[in-house]
Amino acid sequence: MPANSQMPSERSRRLQGIDFSAAEHRTAVVIGTGPAGYTAAIYAARADLEPLVLRGEEPGGQLMTTTEVENYPGFPEGVTGPDLIETLEAQAKRFGAELRYGRVTGVDFSQRPFRLTIDERTPLLADAVVISTGASAQYLGLPNELRLISRGVSACATCDGVLFRGKEVAVVGGGDSALEEALFLTRFAQKVHVIHRRDKLRASKIMQRRAMNNDRISFIWDSAVEDVLGQDSVTGLRLRNLRNGQSSTLTVEGLFVAIGHRPNTEVFRGQVDLDGNGYIRVVPGTSRTSLEGVFASGDVQDPHYRQAITAAGSGAMAALDAERWLAQQNDSAYSLEVAV
Ligand code: NAP
Repeated sequence: MPANSQMPSERSRRLQGIDFSAAEHRTAVVIGTGPAGYTAAIYAARADLEPLVLRGEEPGGQLMTTTEVENYPGFPEGVTGPDLIETLEAQAKRFGAELRYGRVTGVDFSQRPFRLTIDERTPLLADAVVISTGASAQYLGLPNELRLISRGVSACATCDGVLFRGKEVAVVGGGDSALEEALFLTRFAQKVHVIHRRDKLRASKIMQRRAMNNDRISFIWDSAVEDVLGQDSVTGLRLRNLRNGQSSTLTVEGLFVAIGHRPNTEVFRGQVDLDGNGYIRVVPGTSRTSLEGVFASGDVQDPHYRQAITAAGSGAMAALDAERWLAQQNDSAYSLEVAV
């Protein structure tokens, strides 16, 4: 049995009562269909692992809400996020990857083949698993904010900042991400307002210094965004000062929400090692998780770079690591047979 000293999670307990005796058994299962998952699928399919790729809750991942991707190599004119995903999907299918809608709702990695439950009911067995479930940007949760995503509301300045050339925009948040987004946005926007709910930033001192020294950045302290204004695109924000309760309107054409990301790892809690923020820990320079045969790629294991291209690169690594690990398992099984 593979080493896994952690307690099973609530999700893994949900496997109880599910009959795996006649379950479909795959060599490789890739969970997630962002750039990491699709690249893992392309490499795994080309290695004849006949991967099953599960699309999950947010098929295509964060790119599906990204208008223009201009920094993905190979697209000199840029590409929209959904088009890039479509291209990756077509490439994965071309080599025989099988795509299926299904949310992984339970896993038990304590025995091999690994056990997974799809949509709470369908059992699935896998010799190797690549986790590419990504991270979801956190939003404030305001109805108009969510309605105007990609129409002025964004969680990625690197992706959408260029659309705001010469305009006035706001960033909400007080951490490193918020200041990084704000600093990046000053390349395009004529003014960037950082709205923070306290009067002290959480960001590192160096980022604070850079932001404070930038003429195009101003801070609105102790304030919360109460509403995002605009019918078809953002025209402004309604703010509330949390100290004196006063409301005000800020005229901006863009709102960048930078209040953190949440890695989609809940279902794997207790099965593979996670860091303090819930990201999957991998052996540095590899895609290997704490558990042999389980690999991770993309944002689910990367709180730092979070780019489509770095996710794709790590997807390739995960498929290569999985392929080599499976080959080693086959070699060992063959040696045992010969010895017997
Ligand atoms: P973070 O450090 O958790 O900061 C999130 C910020 O959003 C905090 O200022 C928080 O306010 C605010 N916030 C959270 N929920 C909110 C809500 N509902 N409404 C309004 N504001 C809200 O997240 P992060 O900035 O994404 O950084 C995550 C990690 O990545 C950190 O360890 C960071 O250092 C690292 N990172 C590093 C770099 C870099 O070094 N260049 C760049 C990006 C990220 P409070 O402060 O009041 O809690």
